[in-house]
Amino acid sequence: MAAHQEKKHSEERNRKSTQNNTRTSQGQWGRAWEVDWFSLASILFLLMFAPLIVYYFIMSCDQYQCSLIDPVIDLLTGNKHLSDIWNKTPTLTYRAAGIYALWVTFQVILYVFIPDFCHKFIPGYVGGVQEGAVTPAGVVNKYEINGLQAWIITHVLWFANAYYFHWFSPTIIFDNWIPLLWCANILGYAVSTFAMIKSYYFPTNTKDCKFTGNFFYDYMMGIEFNPRIGKWFDFKLFFNGRPGIVAWTLINLSYAAKQQELYGQVTNSMILVNVLQGIYVLDFFWNEAWYLKTIDICHDHFGWYLGWGDCVWLPYLYTLQGLYLVYHPVQLGTANAIGILMLGLIGYYIFRTTNHQKDLFRRTNGNCKIWGKKPEYIECSYMSVDGTKYYSKLLTSGFWGWARHFNYTGDLMGSLAYCLACGFEHILPYFYIVYMTILLTHRCIRDEHRCFSKYGKDWKRYTAAVPYRLIPGIF
Ligand code: NDP
Repeated sequence: MAAHQEKKHSEERNRKSTQNNTRTSQGQWGRAWEVDWFSLASILFLLMFAPLIVYYFIMSCDQYQCSLIDPVIDLLTGNKHLSDIWNKTPTLTYRAAGIYALWVTFQVILYVFIPDFCHKFIPGYVGGVQEGAVTPAGVVNKYEINGLQAWIITHVLWFANAYYFHWFSPTIIFDNWIPLLWCANILGYAVSTFAMIKSYYFPTNTKDCKFTGNFFYDYMMGIEFNPRIGKWFDFKLFFNGRPGIVAWTLINLSYAAKQQELYGQVTNSMILVNVLQGIYVLDFFWNEAWYLKTIDICHDHFGWYLGWGDCVWLPYLYTLQGLYLVYHPVQLGTANAIGILMLGLIGYYIFRTTNHQKDLFRRTNGNCKIWGKKPEYIECSYMSVDGTKYYSKLLTSGFWGWARHFNYTGDLMGSLAYCLACGFEHILPYFYIVYMTILLTHRCIRDEHRCFSKYGKDWKRYTAAVPYRLIPGIF
C-alpha cells in the first residue's frame, strides 16, 4: 500500500515536473520586457563598435601581418591617417557579391528543399522533423533538422571541386575575404532590419513578440521569438547554423589551401586548427536537434545580435586562428603539437560528456547510470507564476559533481587549444579564448541568477554540494 502511494506520489511529481518546464517557461524565458540603462549602454556600444572590431582584426591581418598594435602606433605617431588605412582596404566587388549570393542561395536550397535523409541510414543520428522547446507563449515549433546533411553535401562538393572539377580555386574564400566581409555585413543588416519590420507588420506569432518601445534594444535583441517564412524557413535555426557554421570549416580549408599555395606545405598547426574546429562543427550538426533545447535557441529573440552576429561575427572572428596561420605559418614541435591535440580532445570529451550526462539524466528522470552508478541528485521545488508547486532534480554525479558548468570548462579547454596552436608571437589568435571566457563566465552568472530565482533555497543546497562553477577548487 505504502509502495503504491509512493508510486502515485512519484508519478504526480513527474507529471508536475513536466508541466513545470512548460509553465515556468511562460513569461520568464526570452529577453527582458524592460530596458535598464546598463543593457541599453552595452547595446549601443555593441551596435557602434562590434562591426569596427571585426574590421580592425581583419584589416590588421591584411595590412599589418596580424599585428593589433602596429595600426595604433602608426595612427598615434602620425605615420598614417585613418584615410590611408581605409583607402588600402579592398572594396566590395561584383565577384564577391556573386560568390556570396550563390553561397547563401545554395544554403537556403539545402535547408528548405532537401528533407533530411541522414537519419535514415546513420545509426544514432537524430534528424528530420523535430520539435523545439515550448516558447513563452506555449507554442511548440517543428523544425526540419538537416544541418548535418547540408554540411556533408557542401563539403563533398568542395572536395570534388578541389580535386576533380576545378571550377574555382580552393583559396577563393581567403582571396576575397574583405570584399566578402562587406557582403556578410549587408546580409547581416538586411536580415536584422527585415526581422524588425516583419515583427510589426506580419509577425509569425504575435504572442511571442516582445516590444520594449526602445528602438535600439528591440533592433538588437529582436522582437519576434521565432520568425518564419512559410512553414519551414526558420530564421533562428537557419542563421544560427548555416551559412555561418557550415562556412566555418570551409573557411579553414581555404586558409589551409592558401598556405599550400604560398609556402608549398600545410603546417601542423593549421592541420590541428582544422581538425579540432572541424570536430566542434561536426558535433554541432550531429547534435542539432539537441541544440533546439539550449539557452541560445530557447531564450533569445531574433534581432541584430543573432542576425548580424551569425553572418559576420561568427565566421570572421571564430576563424582568426586559421587566418593568422596564413600570415605566420607556425610549425610546432612534435611534443607541442601532441600536447595541444590532447588538450583539444580532452576539452571536447569533457564538453560532450557533460552535456550528454545532463541530457540523459533529465530525459530519463534520473533512471539512468552515470559513470556506471545510479546518479545522485538534489530534489528541488519551485513555484510557477500561479502559485503551484513543482519539482525538478539537479544532478550532482559525474562531471556535474565536479563543477556546476563543467561543460563550459571543456569548451574553454578546446578554445585554448586552437589559440595555442598559433604560438606566442601575436595576441590576435588569442582573441577567441578571451572572448569565450567572457561569454561563458557571463553566461554562468546569468544562468545561476535565473536558477536561484527559480529554485531558491534548493539552489543554495545545490551550490553547497557543488561549490565551484568552472574549475574545482578555484572558481
Ligand atoms: P547548459 O546546457 O549548462 O544548461 C543550463 C541549464 O541546465 C540551467 O539553466 C538549468 O536549467 C539546468 N541545470 C543546471 N544545473 C543542472 C544540474 N546539475 N542538473 C540538471 N540540470 C541542470 O547551458 P547552455 O545551454 O548555455 O550550453 C549548452 C552548451 O553550448 C555548452 O556546452 C556550452 O559550452 C555551449 N555553448 C557554446 C557557445 C559558442 O559560442 N561556442 C555559446 C554558448 C554555449 P533548468 O531550469 O532546466 O533546471
